[in-house]
Amino acid sequence: MNFIPTIDLALLTRDDQPLQDSVRNAVESQVGVRLNVHRIIGQPSGTDASRIATIVRARNEAVRRARSEHMMFLDDDVVLAKDCIARLHHGLIARSNYGAIAADYLGESSPHRDSRHVSMGATLFRRSVLRRNAFRWEPSKCECLCQCEDIRRSGARIGYLSGAKAWHLTRRQSARRCANSSTVTANPPPTYVDPEVVQTAKILVAFNRRDVRRFQDVFLRTLRASGNTQEVIVVGYGLYPSEIQSLQRLANVRFIRQPYNGQLPPVRRLSDFRDIVSLLAPRTPVAYWDAGDVLFQGRLDSLWQQTQQHPDQILSVS
Ligand SMILES: [Zn+2]
Repeated sequence: MNFIPTIDLALLTRDDQPLQDSVRNAVESQVGVRLNVHRIIGQPSGTDASRIATIVRARNEAVRRARSEHMMFLDDDVVLAKDCIARLHHGLIARSNYGAIAADYLGESSPHRDSRHVSMGATLFRRSVLRRNAFRWEPSKCECLCQCEDIRRSGARIGYLSGAKAWHLTRRQSARRCANSSTVTANPPPTYVDPEVVQTAKILVAFNRRDVRRFQDVFLRTLRASGNTQEVIVVGYGLYPSEIQSLQRLANVRFIRQPYNGQLPPVRRLSDFRDIVSLLAPRTPVAYWDAGDVLFQGRLDSLWQQTQQHPDQILSVS
C-alpha cells in the first residue's frame, strides 16, 4: 500500500468571498496527498504598515495552525495542476538539503540555478523551517524574498521544481505585491490583426474522461475570460452521456463523439484533427492545445495573424 502524506494547506485570501471555481476545483482534485485546508483571510489591521505586512501576519497565523510535517502555501489566484502538491512533496523528500520547494506559476525559474526570488503562492515547506524562520518583510523586500534569504542563510536551499505545474489567474496583482520580484510582464509588440481572421479561427482540443472537468473549468473558462470567442471543436474519447450533454450545452463549442479504443488522445488526435481540418475552409487559422494543462491569460489575436503571415508553417506555441 502506498503511503499518502498529510499536508497542511494554507489558502490565503483577501476576504471571505467564495473562491474562484478553478482554484477550488484544483485544490479538491489534488491526487496522492491528504490535505488539511486552512483558509486564512488577510484582513488589514490598523498596525499593518503595508499590504505585505498584512500578508506576513496571515502567513505566520497559518504556520501556528499547521500540525503536519509539511506545509503548503497557496494564493487564492493560483490554479494547481492536480499532481502539483504530490510532486512538490516528492521533490522535497528527495532533496534533503531543501527547506522549501515551489511551483513556478509566474515563469521566474531558470533550469540552471535557483531563482533568487521564489514566490510563495504555491510553495511547500518543511514545517521545521517555518518554526525557525517566521515570515517577515523589509521596506524594499517582499516576504517571499526575506524568507528565501533566511532559508539560504541557514544553509538550506529553496527553489522551483520543474514538473510541478501551477498557473496564475491575475498576473498584475502579484507584480504589484512582490516589491523585489524578477517577474517581467512583457507585452508583444502591436501588429495589425485582421478581424475576420480572428473571427474565423478554430481551436481544436481532444481529450478523454480524465480531462472533462479541467477542459470546462480551466481551459474553456480562461479562454473565454480572456476575450477569445472563437469556435472550439472538441473531440471526446469514450465520454459518459452526462459528460457529452454538458459539453453540448456549452456556447460555441462543437462536440464530436468518438468511442474509447485504448489509444491515448495525443496519438489519436493526429488523425482526427486532420479529418476535421480537411473540412474547414482553406486558410482557416487552427490551433490546438492539451486540454489538461493549459490556461489562457490573453487574447490570441496576434497568434491568428501569424498563421496568415506564415501559411506554409505549423506554428508551435508554448
Ligand atoms: Zn515576493
